[in-house]
Amino acid sequence: MTRKAGAADPSIYVWWIGAEATPGGLLNEVRAHTGRVFGLTTRLWRGQERPSDAFDPARNQSSSTRILEWLVTAGPGETHKVLAVTDLDLFIPVLTFVFGEAQLGGHAAVVSTARLVPSGSPIARGGRLLAARLTKEAVHEIGHSFGLVHCDLVRCVMSRSSSLLQVDAKSGGLCQDCWTRYLDLREHSGGPHDEGTHPYPGR
Ligand SMILES: [Zn+2]
Ligand SMILES: [Zn+2]
Repeated sequence: MTRKAGAADPSIYVWWIGAEATPGGLLNEVRAHTGRVFGLTTRLWRGQERPSDAFDPARNQSSSTRILEWLVTAGPGETHKVLAVTDLDLFIPVLTFVFGEAQLGGHAAVVSTARLVPSGSPIARGGRLLAARLTKEAVHEIGHSFGLVHCDLVRCVMSRSSSLLQVDAKSGGLCQDCWTRYLDLREHSGGPHDEGTHPYPGR
Protein backbone atom coordinates (compact mmCIF):
# COMPACT_ATOMS: atom_id res chain seq x y z
CA MET A 1 0.00 0.00 0.00
CA THR A 2 1.29 3.42 -0.87
CA ARG A 3 0.85 6.03 1.75
CA LYS A 4 0.28 9.60 0.71
CA ALA A 5 3.46 11.51 1.53
CA GLY A 6 3.22 13.27 4.84
CA ALA A 7 -0.29 11.98 5.57
CA ALA A 8 0.67 10.38 8.88
CA ASP A 9 3.05 13.09 10.05
CA PRO A 10 2.20 14.31 13.52
CA SER A 11 2.31 18.03 14.17
CA ILE A 12 3.70 19.42 17.39
CA TYR A 13 1.37 21.84 19.17
CA VAL A 14 2.80 24.26 21.72
CA TRP A 15 0.23 25.34 24.29
CA TRP A 16 0.66 27.97 26.98
CA ILE A 17 -1.18 26.87 30.16
CA GLY A 18 0.55 29.22 32.60
CA ALA A 19 -0.78 31.84 35.01
CA GLU A 20 0.89 34.88 33.42
CA ALA A 21 -0.28 36.28 30.08
CA THR A 22 0.94 34.24 27.11
CA PRO A 23 4.61 35.06 26.44
CA GLY A 24 4.16 35.07 22.66
CA GLY A 25 7.77 35.68 21.65
CA LEU A 26 9.06 32.93 23.90
CA LEU A 27 6.47 30.42 22.71
CA ASN A 28 7.30 31.20 19.11
CA GLU A 29 10.96 30.48 19.79
CA VAL A 30 10.01 27.14 21.32
CA ARG A 31 7.74 26.39 18.36
CA ALA A 32 10.36 27.30 15.74
CA HIS A 33 13.22 25.48 17.46
CA THR A 34 11.33 22.24 18.10
CA GLY A 35 10.13 22.26 14.49
CA ARG A 36 13.72 22.57 13.25
CA VAL A 37 15.06 19.82 15.49
CA PHE A 38 12.33 17.26 14.77
CA GLY A 39 11.66 18.25 11.15
CA LEU A 40 7.92 18.52 11.77
CA THR A 41 5.24 21.18 11.51
CA THR A 42 4.80 23.00 14.78
CA ARG A 43 1.89 25.23 15.67
CA LEU A 44 0.62 27.18 18.64
CA TRP A 45 -2.54 25.85 20.30
CA ARG A 46 -4.60 28.68 21.76
CA GLY A 47 -7.05 26.83 24.02
CA GLN A 48 -8.12 28.75 27.11
CA GLU A 49 -8.74 25.62 29.21
CA ARG A 50 -6.46 24.90 32.15
CA PRO A 51 -6.00 21.73 34.20
CA SER A 52 -8.21 22.06 37.26
CA ASP A 53 -6.84 19.34 39.55
CA ALA A 54 -3.08 19.62 39.01
CA PHE A 55 -2.30 22.20 41.69
CA ASP A 56 -1.26 20.84 45.09
CA PRO A 57 -1.76 23.56 47.74
CA ALA A 58 0.31 21.68 50.33
CA ARG A 59 3.38 21.82 48.06
CA ASN A 60 2.43 25.04 46.28
CA GLN A 61 3.34 23.23 43.07
CA SER A 62 1.54 21.54 40.19
CA SER A 63 1.64 17.82 39.46
CA SER A 64 3.24 17.33 36.06
CA THR A 65 1.75 13.84 35.85
CA ARG A 66 -1.78 15.16 36.32
CA ILE A 67 -1.14 17.79 33.64
CA LEU A 68 -0.08 15.02 31.24
CA GLU A 69 -3.24 13.05 32.01
CA TRP A 70 -5.32 16.14 31.33
CA LEU A 71 -3.49 16.87 28.06
CA VAL A 72 -4.49 13.50 26.63
CA THR A 73 -8.13 14.58 26.42
CA ALA A 74 -7.71 18.37 26.13
CA GLY A 75 -6.09 20.04 23.13
CA PRO A 76 -5.36 18.81 19.61
CA GLY A 77 -5.94 15.06 20.01
CA GLU A 78 -3.72 12.01 20.14
CA THR A 79 -2.61 11.89 16.52
CA HIS A 80 -0.40 14.89 17.30
CA LYS A 81 2.15 15.80 19.96
CA VAL A 82 1.26 18.48 22.45
CA LEU A 83 3.80 20.38 24.51
CA ALA A 84 2.27 22.40 27.34
CA VAL A 85 4.35 25.29 28.66
CA THR A 86 3.63 26.76 32.07
CA ASP A 87 5.12 29.18 34.58
CA LEU A 88 3.84 27.10 37.51
CA ASP A 89 6.40 25.07 39.43
CA LEU A 90 6.12 21.35 38.60
CA PHE A 91 6.73 18.29 40.75
CA ILE A 92 6.48 14.54 40.79
CA PRO A 93 6.07 13.00 44.25
CA VAL A 94 9.63 11.64 44.63
CA LEU A 95 11.40 14.88 43.60
CA THR A 96 11.39 18.44 44.94
CA PHE A 97 10.76 19.73 41.41
CA VAL A 98 11.04 18.82 37.72
CA PHE A 99 11.78 21.03 34.71
CA GLY A 100 9.24 18.97 32.79
CA GLU A 101 7.75 15.57 32.16
CA ALA A 102 6.53 13.59 29.17
CA GLN A 103 4.72 10.37 28.35
CA LEU A 104 7.45 8.10 27.01
CA GLY A 105 6.39 7.18 23.50
CA GLY A 106 3.10 8.98 24.09
CA HIS A 107 1.28 12.11 23.13
CA ALA A 108 1.86 14.76 25.77
CA ALA A 109 4.74 16.68 27.34
CA VAL A 110 4.95 19.62 29.73
CA VAL A 111 7.74 22.03 30.63
CA SER A 112 7.92 24.89 33.12
CA THR A 113 9.78 28.17 33.14
CA ALA A 114 9.62 28.32 36.96
CA ARG A 115 13.07 26.85 37.67
CA LEU A 116 14.70 28.24 34.52
CA VAL A 117 14.68 31.90 35.61
CA PRO A 118 16.29 33.37 38.74
CA SER A 119 13.77 33.02 41.55
CA GLY A 120 11.06 35.65 41.52
CA SER A 121 11.96 36.99 38.07
CA PRO A 122 9.07 37.38 35.67
CA ILE A 123 9.33 35.56 32.37
CA ALA A 124 9.75 38.87 30.55
CA ARG A 125 13.10 39.37 32.28
CA GLY A 126 14.34 35.88 31.51
CA GLY A 127 15.74 37.05 28.16
CA ARG A 128 18.01 34.96 25.97
CA LEU A 129 19.06 32.64 28.76
CA LEU A 130 15.48 31.61 29.52
CA ALA A 131 14.73 31.11 25.82
CA ALA A 132 17.80 28.90 25.43
CA ARG A 133 16.98 26.83 28.50
CA LEU A 134 13.29 26.47 27.73
CA THR A 135 13.87 25.39 24.14
CA LYS A 136 16.32 22.70 25.34
CA GLU A 137 13.90 21.33 27.92
CA ALA A 138 11.07 21.48 25.38
CA VAL A 139 13.09 19.42 22.86
CA HIS A 140 14.09 17.01 25.64
CA GLU A 141 10.49 16.32 26.70
CA ILE A 142 9.20 16.07 23.13
CA GLY A 143 12.07 13.63 22.50
CA HIS A 144 10.72 11.47 25.33
CA SER A 145 7.24 11.66 23.82
CA PHE A 146 8.69 10.12 20.65
CA GLY A 147 10.19 7.34 22.79
CA LEU A 148 13.76 8.62 23.18
CA VAL A 149 15.38 7.77 26.53
CA HIS A 150 18.23 9.54 28.32
CA CYS A 151 21.55 9.87 26.52
CA ASP A 152 25.01 9.69 28.13
CA LEU A 153 26.47 12.53 26.06
CA VAL A 154 26.34 15.68 28.20
CA ARG A 155 26.07 17.88 25.09
CA CYS A 156 23.09 15.98 23.72
CA VAL A 157 19.72 17.52 24.49
CA MET A 158 18.51 14.09 25.65
CA SER A 159 21.06 13.98 28.49
CA ARG A 160 19.49 14.00 31.93
CA SER A 161 19.19 17.41 33.57
CA SER A 162 18.28 17.97 37.17
CA SER A 163 20.19 21.25 37.60
CA LEU A 164 20.63 24.44 35.59
CA LEU A 165 24.33 23.61 35.19
CA GLN A 166 23.33 20.47 33.32
CA VAL A 167 20.78 22.37 31.24
CA ASP A 168 23.35 25.00 30.30
CA ALA A 169 25.95 22.35 29.44
CA LYS A 170 23.87 20.75 26.72
CA SER A 171 23.17 21.87 23.19
CA GLY A 172 19.69 22.37 21.80
CA GLY A 173 19.88 19.38 19.46
CA LEU A 174 19.98 15.59 19.26
CA CYS A 175 23.30 13.75 18.94
CA GLN A 176 23.78 11.46 15.94
CA ASP A 177 22.66 8.34 17.83
CA CYS A 178 19.52 9.99 19.21
CA TRP A 179 18.69 11.42 15.78
CA THR A 180 18.96 7.97 14.19
CA ARG A 181 16.84 6.49 16.96
CA TYR A 182 14.28 9.27 16.55
CA LEU A 183 13.89 8.59 12.82
CA ASP A 184 13.47 4.93 13.59
CA LEU A 185 10.87 5.54 16.30
CA ARG A 186 8.96 7.93 14.07
CA GLU A 187 8.92 5.46 11.24
CA HIS A 188 7.56 2.74 13.48
CA SER A 189 4.90 5.00 14.91
CA GLY A 190 3.51 5.51 11.40
CA GLY A 191 5.26 8.69 10.27
CA PRO A 192 7.08 8.52 6.92
CA HIS A 193 10.85 8.44 6.84
CA ASP A 194 12.32 11.89 6.51
CA GLU A 195 15.68 12.49 4.90
CA GLY A 196 16.13 15.64 6.92
CA THR A 197 19.46 17.15 7.79
CA HIS A 198 21.12 16.12 10.98
CA PRO A 199 20.03 18.71 13.57
CA TYR A 200 22.90 18.61 16.07
CA PRO A 201 23.84 22.29 16.23
CA GLY A 202 27.44 23.39 16.40
CA ARG A 203 27.10 25.36 19.58
ZN1 LIG B 1 14.43 13.29 30.65
ZN1 LIG C 1 21.99 11.68 22.41
